[in-house]
Amino acid sequence: MDKKNIDWENLGFGYITTDKRYVSNFKDGKWDEGGLTEDANITMSECAGVLQYAQTIFEGLKAYTTEGGRIVTFRPDLNAQRMVDSAKRLEMPSFPADRFVEAVEQVVRANAAYVPPCGSGATLYIRPYMFGINPVIGVKPADEYQFRVFATPVGPYFKGGVKPLTLCVSDFDRAAPRGTGHIKAGLNYAMSLHAIVTAHANGFDENMYLDSATRTKVEETGGANFIFITKDNKVVTPHSDTILPSITRRSLLYVAEHYLGLEVEERDVYLEEVKDFAECGLCGTAAVISPVGKIVDHGKEICLPSGMEKMGPTIQKLYDTLTGIQMGHIEAPEGWIRVIE
Ligand SMILES: *Cc1c(COP(=O)(O)O)cnc(C)c1O
Repeated sequence: MDKKNIDWENLGFGYITTDKRYVSNFKDGKWDEGGLTEDANITMSECAGVLQYAQTIFEGLKAYTTEGGRIVTFRPDLNAQRMVDSAKRLEMPSFPADRFVEAVEQVVRANAAYVPPCGSGATLYIRPYMFGINPVIGVKPADEYQFRVFATPVGPYFKGGVKPLTLCVSDFDRAAPRGTGHIKAGLNYAMSLHAIVTAHANGFDENMYLDSATRTKVEETGGANFIFITKDNKVVTPHSDTILPSITRRSLLYVAEHYLGLEVEERDVYLEEVKDFAECGLCGTAAVISPVGKIVDHGKEICLPSGMEKMGPTIQKLYDTLTGIQMGHIEAPEGWIRVIE
């Protein structure tokens, strides 16, 4: 199959229209058959539920080419399940997990010419999402929904090498106790925009959000979970009901324990103890792990011993092992790699 004429190495993270996307509609209490379409635009009522009351959820995963030349996705069943969980919390119908995985495969297969070649660092980013589409003016869940999946090629995350990030401890909160922090809902992002624009204006790469109940514990950033490495080489990640359960973070913890023989702790992590860690990283689909070099808490700098030049040694090992599993030169646990073609 001929690839599109795209400069893969210099692609950014932006939307590029691809050939086909998947659409299924929920009406009269059931999902229709669904299928691929060439139409990248959506026509809906001016009063659609999503436009009035933000009833929308999404997922993000990628397809890429392995060293063996196969097009694969990484643990799409976990995205499918997470979307089921997100839907329940926003009173939306679940899109069946097996159909989700099937829809992702259809979209990747139909856009195979946009899947970047192995070694380019670029990937095909896949965006499943669902929203209330019928008119809703009194506050209540919509009756009709649309589930869609589109794909867009994105460039390598670390262009010109890895650069550790500088974070600031945010004065804004991301998620309320018993709120929606644990689901992938557009509303969590809408309300985080002011905080990230403020952080960027102040010269920081990302926000470190604290738990909003006590503001003493580390939660996550706007779109990635934390992992920390202790000086005696344990992997620590915050445990909280208001953190989005990152598939990358869960995979890294498994790799730490079962591939690298490291001790793993999922527990409360206090801001107070961050100064004692040896390494810190942010986990998410986009970068796998981005190293953190410095965290600024209202003028007080916490400098991680791993520094501002490169990843710390243990985070580097975690990164190399998980990306090795993804690219196919390290054997994957059963079911992690889904071959599309
Ligand atoms: C999507 C997301 C993550 C990362 O999850 P992955 O499954 O690893 O991509 C982390 N935090 C938030 C708030 C997210 O929305």
